[in-house]
Amino acid sequence: MRTNRTFTMIKPDGVANNHIGAILNDITTAGFKIVAMKYTQLSTDLAGKFYAVHAERPFYKDLVAFMSSGPIVAAILEKDNAVADFRTLIGATDPAKADVGTLRNKYAQSIDANTVHGSDSDENAEIEGAFYFTAFERF
Ligand code: ATP
Ligand code: MG
Repeated sequence: MRTNRTFTMIKPDGVANNHIGAILNDITTAGFKIVAMKYTQLSTDLAGKFYAVHAERPFYKDLVAFMSSGPIVAAILEKDNAVADFRTLIGATDPAKADVGTLRNKYAQSIDANTVHGSDSDENAEIEGAFYFTAFERF
């Protein structure tokens, strides 16, 4: 299992608020290399599959509706200790609790519209990267 890759999405609010450029700049300035990247929009079906792990949670329906509400940017990132370092860069799930200077502190509005996704384990980074990119696109 790789330990130097993570998967991210700039969520619909980050794209709608014109933060793609600033967020990618923050990500690369923090030392992450972009391995693969795609601008696309999830159907409700695909958003439901991506977040299937949360299917029993009360916020699942809203999460799926939000994540399919507009375009997103999906990317695979590379850096030593990628998963943990990227979670530090994005900050807490609730932007109100995110440390100053983190992406969610700088760009996010609410726990629903929290601007950036980051994988929570090496295993999920691999699964999530494969959800969006073919083997050829993520060599
Ligand atoms: P992400 O997986 O998007 O990077 P995360 O790992 O910080 O976020 P998760 O626990 O995986 O948080 O939850 C997935 C998403 O579901 C969150 O980003 C958030 O938008 C939403 N969510 C999580 N907890 C709540 C909650 N208590 N109320 C509303 N929405 C929530
Ligand atoms: Mg998560």
